[in-house]
Amino acid sequence: MKTTIIGYPRIGNLRELKFASEKYFRGEITVAELEAEAKEIRLFNLNLQKNSGLDLIPSNDYSFYDGVLDTAFLLNAVAERYTALKLSVLDTYFAAARGYQGEKGDVKALAMKKWYNTNYHYMVPEIDDETTISLVGTKPFDLFKEALENGIKTKPVIIGAFTFLKLSRYMGTKTAADFIEQTAEAYSAILIKFNALGAEWVQFDEPSLVKDLTEEDIQLFTSLYEKILPNKGSVKVLAQTYFGDVRDCYQDLCSLDFDGVGLDFIEGKQSLALVQANGFPKDKMLFAGVVNGKNIWRNHYASTLLILDELKKHTEKIVLNTSCSLLHVPCTLSNETKLADSYKKHFAYAEEKLTELAEIRKITVSEYPLETEEYRRNAVLHSEPRSGRNDAVREKVASLTAQDFVRLPAFVVREKIQKARFNLPLFPTTTIGSFPQTADVKSARTALRKGELSHADYENLIERKIAECVRLQEEIGLDVLVHGEFERNDMVEYFGECLDGYIFTEKAWVQSYGTRCVKPPVVWGDISRAKPMTVRWSVYAQSLTDKPMKGMLTGPVTILNWSFPREDISLKESALQIALAIREEVLDLEANGIKIIQVDEAALREKLPLRKSDWREDYLDWAIPAFRYVHSGVKPETQIHTHMCYSEFADIIRDIDDMDADVITFEASRSDLTILDVLKENNFRTEVGPGVYDIHSPRVPSKEEIKAVIGKMKARIPAEKLWVNPDCGLKTRGNEETIPSLKNLVSAAIEVRNENS
Ligand code: GLN
Ligand code: ZN
Repeated sequence: MKTTIIGYPRIGNLRELKFASEKYFRGEITVAELEAEAKEIRLFNLNLQKNSGLDLIPSNDYSFYDGVLDTAFLLNAVAERYTALKLSVLDTYFAAARGYQGEKGDVKALAMKKWYNTNYHYMVPEIDDETTISLVGTKPFDLFKEALENGIKTKPVIIGAFTFLKLSRYMGTKTAADFIEQTAEAYSAILIKFNALGAEWVQFDEPSLVKDLTEEDIQLFTSLYEKILPNKGSVKVLAQTYFGDVRDCYQDLCSLDFDGVGLDFIEGKQSLALVQANGFPKDKMLFAGVVNGKNIWRNHYASTLLILDELKKHTEKIVLNTSCSLLHVPCTLSNETKLADSYKKHFAYAEEKLTELAEIRKITVSEYPLETEEYRRNAVLHSEPRSGRNDAVREKVASLTAQDFVRLPAFVVREKIQKARFNLPLFPTTTIGSFPQTADVKSARTALRKGELSHADYENLIERKIAECVRLQEEIGLDVLVHGEFERNDMVEYFGECLDGYIFTEKAWVQSYGTRCVKPPVVWGDISRAKPMTVRWSVYAQSLTDKPMKGMLTGPVTILNWSFPREDISLKESALQIALAIREEVLDLEANGIKIIQVDEAALREKLPLRKSDWREDYLDWAIPAFRYVHSGVKPETQIHTHMCYSEFADIIRDIDDMDADVITFEASRSDLTILDVLKENNFRTEVGPGVYDIHSPRVPSKEEIKAVIGKMKARIPAEKLWVNPDCGLKTRGNEETIPSLKNLVSAAIEVRNENS
């Protein structure tokens, strides 16, 4: 039985690629130095995989920025505006990835989108009517040769033809179907080339097959591969799927002339059932994704053996695989020097997952699998009682009833009570929470961590920053104030640190996009609130002003979505535990005189399942209630706000309204305000603050510009429901642009207000 993985993290164990790339962007190192660093990372990873005993080692999983962008460059799908800059190939590539502003021109980057249901983001290729898809790049071949020179015959990995066409954006009148011939020819050329180079396997990644597919999609998929596969020669072609199951096209996938089919048995709810019901073709290898590529917990060998035993009834040709690329987990546990062994022994990052594959193979091929040392050790680990159990929390979650999720009185009644209480002007102005995190705050936090600054001095600084921020907002004339969030490094990490049940890693970085990495905290045990988390800061801020001060919290779904979740209890259970803790904080804020409380659900949409048919049962049915539970206990006169980044929620608009917040703010300025029509059509009940300007850009919007935007909003949203605010938090902006922008925002709101009365 052979082993393989779908891909390995490319950022380097200590994010070497990130640092080298950023140096290159700043002009501090040459392209040769960047290439050398990249090569070192690649060879290190290849050798690591080889030494672990992995049979089929992937290549071309490496990327300077993003694998989809690589594929666009490989296939000549590069928008004119980038090639017109006449830069080197690598700099053209970076221009498409990050935009370019310099002597050769001024162009924006390609759009960036979430990679399926992960926190990775890919660059969206643009295909216009003039695009000719053809094989023009050499990267996969170069990397194959590079590995070969180092004694490793790899399995090159390329985004498959179907997924590539599905992910691209069509700028002209042509659609994916118009590119079938060209694309098939380009992919055929890839196979012919690999044939000549002596590759044994080529992996085409086709994650788009796990989404809901239409007849046309299936048609597109089959016609592509009917044209591509006859050109494979002696290369074996693997169709690799991940992030779900292929229930809409299992038969089609099996009847095409692939040599291997990769299925995900971790996230693919129906993968096993599909094999059981339909069998598996005799002529193909089944690449069985049994080691979770997305989470950091050790594999449970007993469960894995059960899946494999079941699969063996249908095929003997099994290759052990990860469920998806290891890109989504951190590199190695060896850098976690501060984490106690009692935690670490439960973790497997990318490097440790290689060991797991080797161990699973050893166990499955042994005569008495359950007697093997590896199996036993794993069984013991998984049978140990886990620390961090909190029965009180569990009982509380178990005892929740339908009523606990309902805030009374109903929205319309509360709305009147709150209007009378706050007596805010029409189009009240506010911000999303954070104010610019200036260098003094960041360096104080570093000094505190290093022990160079005392806790008391740090807290004094935060108080001073809050006082300045309140004064500034009063000067600007905002109606509902915030404390500025200076005490927070990150909106999830901060709460994680205050909650029991969370643990933090030191070097567990995961690529989010390009050179940006995140270090998600880990939900280890049952979650509970150890102590008030924000009360003192909000109370202090409120003491400085007569205007309402918004308490500022992160919601349970967002906290969970931006963490590594547990696998021993359900996501629903975890979300409700976090909801319990945040609810306590909400009630505490209310009891301490905070009249408006914002609970951010920035990442609510992120983990929406890929298939519509799974939306409710697998996600919305617990995510929305978790949010509702957070605020269902407050008094009618307490106003609950929520905030969401992006307004891509047209398809779940009812659910958003059903969160039953009193006010919601969200990003609208970059999405052409189209969401406003959707709100109108759906009689959206919650009061809304669609962002009137884009905080992601340093540009200062003029008063006139903001007035025009408010005008458009007013045309679709009842005046008494409309708030005026920026898009998102101001944390990453400087005061230079923030202060004039907010002044313009307030003057614009006042003028529209006056025109209205
Ligand atoms: N309240 C948070 C802030 O202002 C919200 C951030 C976010 O939506 N990502 O920073
Ligand atoms: Zn936001």
